[in-house]
This record gives sequence, structure tokens and C-alpha cells, in this order.
Amino acid sequence: MLVMQVKPEEEILSRVWGRRVFIFECFGCREVHFPEEKIETLVEKFKEKVIGKLSCDYLCRREFVQDYINEYCQEIERAEIILIFSCGVGTQVVSSLLEDKIVYTACDTLYLNGFQGLTVQDFNCNQCGECYLNYTGGICPLTNCPKGLLNGPCGGAKNGKCEVNPEADCAWELIYNRLKKQGRLNLLKRVFPPRNYQKIITESLLRKGV
Ligand code: SF4
Ligand code: SF4
Repeated sequence: MLVMQVKPEEEILSRVWGRRVFIFECFGCREVHFPEEKIETLVEKFKEKVIGKLSCDYLCRREFVQDYINEYCQEIERAEIILIFSCGVGTQVVSSLLEDKIVYTACDTLYLNGFQGLTVQDFNCNQCGECYLNYTGGICPLTNCPKGLLNGPCGGAKNGKCEVNPEADCAWELIYNRLKKQGRLNLLKRVFPPRNYQKIITESLLRKGV
């Protein structure tokens, strides 16, 4: 089950306006609350700049997505912005396959429990209700950093490895390197306020129909 909301219209339009856009739209687990009509209305506002659109199932499956990217490689190459309508997992998958491209998520993931994708996935989303991927080069700081740090590294990494889990790369070093590669280190100047945990949907709220 997937519950997500489209980010505010002004925010999305400010990112895509005047730029060539390629859209990925995932229909994989849309049993509930996939805002299709809202997405259609929004895309209509910048349709003349959309140079390609791919609606697919399971953007969370890296191998499928690689095939889609191969199929649409010319349009994707020409695009200045890749815009994703999916949960946080789908955006992370596309970002990981298009490291040189600016990949924006147009959605905040609110709830993602139960069945998703087909098998174990390469990425996770904590359904934080306020997706940060647009500021971190598509690498989730909440699921990749064991401390869930939003505003940079803890300083404990050694040789690029996390101090909590030495088997894993430090998420913030990955974020830094990705943004540097894209010439977007200015994004790191932003300081996020504490998270608003009221944005998270719990199962009990869902049962009440909130
Ligand atoms: S920031 Fe991470 S946990 Fe939050 S919605 Fe995005 S991918 Fe999911
Ligand atoms: S070393 Fe990096 S990934 Fe590990 S807790 Fe610190 S900031 Fe997070």
C-alpha cells in the first residue's frame, strides 16, 4: 500500500519552469491515494517542456528501470530535469542510475507499508512525509545515515565508512560527492529545521481514515 502526496505546485513549477523535463511516473503499488488526477493537472501546466514521459510499474526495481532508461536514453540525455512521481524508493533508484542528472521527486511519501515491488529492494524509504531527496542528490539521509542526520555528517566517518556501521559508506560523504559531481554543492548551505513528526502517517491513523 502506498500513500503519497504531490509536493506544493509552486515548488514543483519553480524547479521545472523553462527547462526540458523527462517524467517518470510509477504505478506499481497505487492501491490507494496515488494522486493521478492531480499529477495530470500539474503536468499540463508545463507540458510544452516535457520531452518524454514514462509511466511504468515498480520504479523501485533497479533492473527494470535500467531497461527503461536504455529505451529512452536519447530523451533522457536531452532532459535538463528528471521529474519523478513515485515513492522515495523510486526516486532513489532513478537517481542512482542517472548520477549526472538532476533528479527531482515531485512527491512526499507518507505511508509505504505492506507489499511493494517484487522482491527485496536496493533502497529504503522511512515515509517521513517530507521528502528531502531534492536537496541531497537523490540519496536519502534518513535511511542511509544510521543517525538520520539532515544537516551534514556527524564527523565520525573513517575512510568514507560510517562510524556506526563500518560496512556501509557514510551517507553524507555519498551526498557530498554526488552533489559535487553535479556542481550543486550550494545545496548544502541550507539548514533544515527539526523534522515534523506529525507528518508521518501511522496504521492507526489510516484505519481511522485520516
Ligand atoms: S527523505 Fe527518505 S524517508 Fe523521507 S520520503 Fe524521501 S526517501 Fe523517504
Ligand atoms: S558516519 Fe556518516 S552515515 Fe554514519 S552516522 Fe555519521 S554522518 Fe551518518
